[in-house]
Amino acid sequence: MDLEYTPEEQRFRDELRTVFYEKVPAEIRERVVRGQISREDIVASQRILHEHGLAVPHWPTQWGGKKWTATQQNIYASELQRAAVPTPLAFNVSMVGPIIAEFGSQEQKEKFLPATANLDIWWSQGFSEPEAGSDLAGLKTTAIRDGDEYVINGQKTWTTLGQYGDWMFLLARTNPGAERKQQGISFILVDMKTPGIERRPIKLIDGSVEVNEFFFDDVRVPVSNLVGEENKGWTYAKFLLGNERNGIAQVGTSQRVFAELVDAAKETDVEEGTLADDPDFRSRLHTAKMRLLALEATQLRVAGASADGKPDPASSLLKLEGTRLLQSLTALRLDAGGTDSVLVGDTEGTDGTPVGLSSEHAASTAALQYLNMRKLSIFGGSNEIQRGVIAKAVLGL
Ligand SMILES: Cc1cc2nc3c(=O)[nH]c(=O)nc-3n(C[C@H](O)[C@H](O)[C@H](O)COP(=O)(O)OP(=O)(O)OC[C@H]3O[C@@H](n4cnc5c(N)ncnc54)[C@H](O)[C@@H]3O)c2cc1C
Repeated sequence: MDLEYTPEEQRFRDELRTVFYEKVPAEIRERVVRGQISREDIVASQRILHEHGLAVPHWPTQWGGKKWTATQQNIYASELQRAAVPTPLAFNVSMVGPIIAEFGSQEQKEKFLPATANLDIWWSQGFSEPEAGSDLAGLKTTAIRDGDEYVINGQKTWTTLGQYGDWMFLLARTNPGAERKQQGISFILVDMKTPGIERRPIKLIDGSVEVNEFFFDDVRVPVSNLVGEENKGWTYAKFLLGNERNGIAQVGTSQRVFAELVDAAKETDVEEGTLADDPDFRSRLHTAKMRLLALEATQLRVAGASADGKPDPASSLLKLEGTRLLQSLTALRLDAGGTDSVLVGDTEGTDGTPVGLSSEHAASTAALQYLNMRKLSIFGGSNEIQRGVIAKAVLGL
């Protein structure tokens, strides 16, 4: 098969690059590179993309979608990552938006979709619970109907950036007596200002507060906040998780980190010459480059094969290898920085994002990024689960 882009695809890519490099401020993209992006950066950049029709390309056209091919969506994700533009908030654009567009009431669509696309509402994902991560269907939070309200009780955990969340879409049991654990679950929208919700931050290994846990104590939510049918939430959740695949290989991010790594190696003096002359380091760079090229080719093949819109189980390969490669690259970056990579000083800024290192040198963020990237093999379907999918659906074992 032909792995080169067609002239039209190249034109499409160049148009995207114009917006990404010329409209999204360089300071924001620089902060993405340094791993110091703030809430304001994410909001500002998503609004710029939305203004240019590029925040929600995979939504139905009526709500801002573009009807792009799988290859175009793939070019979009890779170019966005390569330009270090903050990815539009996944909870909004890849998760709750498509669900509301597909299964929500007309009232919910009008109320939420424009605000969700423009990031006027910041959504959080309330799926995981203690004992219900990979085994999500085992969730225990309940939403019991009382007149025209649901009363929610339970605990959600690992809620990414939940400190900024205006609303949460959550899964809760509306029928705790259902026979199978996948049944009796509903998909409910919760205004986070509702009384009875308590947030506790969870500090991560890189010193940042990126995830939280939430406790729901008799939280009353109008029944009109139910999406779709009661007890059908599992079907919607599966639809949502199928949507998470876009850009999952993070090829653009890896290409950018690789280019930074090559520059850093050329600038880092070692006993004889620079790190770029060191045979061991060069060999590690070559291996990374080969993996990157293979990943890019595989991504193009998978995008081509899933042109009918169905998720390809091979996307599990992309998640697995894409995250492992990015983790290897951040490890190399850490090594390239030598002692400059050693973490010193306070690593937590006022809003919980990692800042405040003693050195302005790019290597000073290498350790934070190395540590932060460990999460990639857990979220979005842990890598062991991906291996299970590959064994069954790809290898037929
Ligand atoms: C940084 C971060 C951000 C997150 N953000 C969110 C969020 O915003 N909203 C949200 O709802 N959730 C979020 N999550 C939760 C994430 O989806 C879960 O952590 C993930 O699904 C794994 O579940 P678990 O942590 O309960 O681990 P477990 O499922 O208990 O797994 C523990 C270990 O056992 C392995 N394992 C489990 N089952 C199998 C199996 N069948 N075969 C082989 N190995 C298996 C796993 O791979 C893992 O290594 C986030 C997680 C992280 C780390």
